[in-house]
Amino acid sequence: MHDQEGAPRTPSIQDYRLPKNVTPRRYELKLEPDLKAFTFKGEESVAVTVNEAARAIVLNALELEIDSAVAERGGKSIRAMVELEPARERAHLRFGEELAPGEWTLKIIFRGVLNDKLHGFYRSQYVDAHGRSHVVASTQFESTDARRAFPCWDEPELKASYKVTLVIDEKLAAISNGGQESERKIAGGKKEIVFKETIKMSTYLVAFIVGEFEATAPVDAGTPLRVVHVPGKEGLTSWAEQIGAYSLKYFADYYGLKYAGDKLDLIAIPDFASGAMENLGAITFRETALLADEKTASRAELERVADVVSHENAHMWFGDLVTMRWWNGIWLNEAFATFMEMLAVNAWKPEWKRWDSFSVSRAAAMAIDGLRSTRPIEFPVLSPEECRAMFDILTYEKGAAVLRMLEQYLRPEVFRDGIRLYLKKHQFANTETSDLWDALEEASKEPARKMMDSWIFQPGFPIIDAASEKSGNAIKLSQRRFYYLREESNQLWHVPVMIRAKTSNGVVTKKVLLTERETTVELGEKVEWALLNEGGHGFYRVHYAPEMLAELTRNLGELAPIERFGLVSDTWAATVAGMGPLSEFLAMARLFSGENDLNVWRAMLGAFNYLDMIAPDAARPALAAAVREIVGPAAKHLGWEAKAGESELTRQLRGVLIGALGTVGDDPEVQRRAAEVYARFEDNPEAADRDLAPPLVAILAHAGDAKRYEEFSRKFKSARTPQEEQRYLFSLTGFRERKLLERTMAMSLDGQVRTQNAPYLMHSLLLNPASRYDAWDFIRRNWEEMAKKYPDNALPRMCEAVVALLDREDDVKAFFATHRVRLGAKIIDQHLERLSVAVGFRNREGAKLSSTLKG
Ligand SMILES: [Zn+2]
Repeated sequence: MHDQEGAPRTPSIQDYRLPKNVTPRRYELKLEPDLKAFTFKGEESVAVTVNEAARAIVLNALELEIDSAVAERGGKSIRAMVELEPARERAHLRFGEELAPGEWTLKIIFRGVLNDKLHGFYRSQYVDAHGRSHVVASTQFESTDARRAFPCWDEPELKASYKVTLVIDEKLAAISNGGQESERKIAGGKKEIVFKETIKMSTYLVAFIVGEFEATAPVDAGTPLRVVHVPGKEGLTSWAEQIGAYSLKYFADYYGLKYAGDKLDLIAIPDFASGAMENLGAITFRETALLADEKTASRAELERVADVVSHENAHMWFGDLVTMRWWNGIWLNEAFATFMEMLAVNAWKPEWKRWDSFSVSRAAAMAIDGLRSTRPIEFPVLSPEECRAMFDILTYEKGAAVLRMLEQYLRPEVFRDGIRLYLKKHQFANTETSDLWDALEEASKEPARKMMDSWIFQPGFPIIDAASEKSGNAIKLSQRRFYYLREESNQLWHVPVMIRAKTSNGVVTKKVLLTERETTVELGEKVEWALLNEGGHGFYRVHYAPEMLAELTRNLGELAPIERFGLVSDTWAATVAGMGPLSEFLAMARLFSGENDLNVWRAMLGAFNYLDMIAPDAARPALAAAVREIVGPAAKHLGWEAKAGESELTRQLRGVLIGALGTVGDDPEVQRRAAEVYARFEDNPEAADRDLAPPLVAILAHAGDAKRYEEFSRKFKSARTPQEEQRYLFSLTGFRERKLLERTMAMSLDGQVRTQNAPYLMHSLLLNPASRYDAWDFIRRNWEEMAKKYPDNALPRMCEAVVALLDREDDVKAFFATHRVRLGAKIIDQHLERLSVAVGFRNREGAKLSSTLKG
């Protein structure tokens, strides 16, 4: 990372793209990490093609020392002068004579450091059950960190094959992308492991992992699949193994192509910056995303493992086999893997209704995409910082949502056929987004490109106004861009509007592609009620004229859960955007007291949590009372005990409702009962309700004192599973005594919490009304240290929570005016705009909030 020095200069493409006069075909890579000194030695022999006669070779290298570099061909050997250029993360190899066009071998000897920043070739530490500390070495190269591990052409387009050799201590294990080819003992208590050569792939997918790892016995997933972990965790692997094998076979079938690797290892790494990384054949995960106790983890926690494992497996084809040409195309990788993750998990556990719960993610993407400071899904990027900033909710969730919209519009089988065409045609190569539209058009004979361009290259999304025509037989639709902060826009989208209406002739459905500003849809007969966005797959919001909304809310029973979710979510978004008063939303919320769907409640409770964030302290009792009034009847209906034959989602809903009553609803009776039930679970863990356990912990923290804090803090340290560890760690951010919260704050920097978690701990403290301003002061005081210690991708995530700092708006804006370089300016602008939206909402509704809530 390097901040600008001196006069700012606009970076150009030459600063970030390597010259293509010399390109690699195959790397032979030998690495010898020293897990005590935290260093490594490396040698590489790269088969390159000199495309034009060259006196110099430029490639990427960062935080490496290069001891020698030699170009060889036909017995001839030319030594290079090496010059490192850290500012552009490059090495220049200058030769005394010209390298003639043709094939050469480049031999480089180098050294590096096993860093503690969770990128490049890095170290991770853990303490075993006997209190002994151990070190593992692992890699994380996406987007641009392979250059920290070996000199290379670190651009996705420059694909090559890799033959990796690792020299390690005899007692350790090593894993890389390919299966093990050979192993031999060498001097000094070491062994040399050679791995099979990989397919042609991008540098960011190379991986090597070294440590005291253990692996499960391989299962057949079309290829041998294992779960790899540090010792002592063998009991937490079965869940990942099941979904791993299921989803890999599911994808091979869906894509119509065999898996390209020769084995697949799913590897849990104690310190990991993101959720997981799709290295071909050697996928790395943070432990919470892979290891779980199937019997005690909650459904939500198990779903998270299933999601992440499926997502990474989907990448083995989409991303690894076919790769974007440059990072502007990363959205297609990530959006597609997110989309496929849903498909696979939905097929594996249909009872989870994964596409319904995806609505929550879609709405979260819309919360960012409704800002002036949003960006188009596909967006030009050059620098590593800009590449990193692409890994956001717009790439993943908005991207997946527009793919789902397209899939539903074209029909699932047609869409799948297009994907098969695309993968087959471009395997082992690189693509632009337009290659996918070409394949989909070929398969569907529909103008997919035109429709998708309006969603991919334009920022934002539309809100569709719907009103009945005078005749009563038709409805008028018009589109405009949705903004939280009012702004003019002439943007238009190609919106596939799915309509279901009840007319005097029965229920009719209609598919309309709205491409103009407005249109009138004839329904033939007198319309009783009409619903837009049938099935909930569209990436748009709907704003009904009052008479249409009244008819719909009178007929809630006719709507599917995902459609009721849409109604609540759209009405809430319009409320935050100031299109309607809060009283209207609350009146509607009161109609949902009989609601029994988990996701509809998540939309509703999301609104109450937002109100908790903007509420002046004086209004908090009225808010708690409103939550008890609206949530209470549904919670009472479910009771505290799971019933035989209940669905998994209903069991989760029970926990969600009780959790809301005990925290934002501040219900003393629920808090008392929670303590009782929790104590019972402690005495008899076998009988514990796994879906009730997480909300109980949250309630007890919310109502808890110093004694409870000590208890949860001990449980965090002695947790048996990654999920319990997370649950108790984050419970320490949910207390309300400032003294206790200050202790949690200190943990974010004193080494008690891994840097992979610490930024998220601060995130939670910023959202807690009892600690938010203290947390902000703490961040300001310790900013430099945090920036140094935390993984690069986590700092902007932590800052998301500044949305809650309503009383410090000016201070927050002033701070980020001078601290934005490293964070990705766009993302910070979004956080700050969300803060302005929250302040605007409080200005409109805050003063009268208590009386509005009383209804
Ligand atoms: Zn991904």
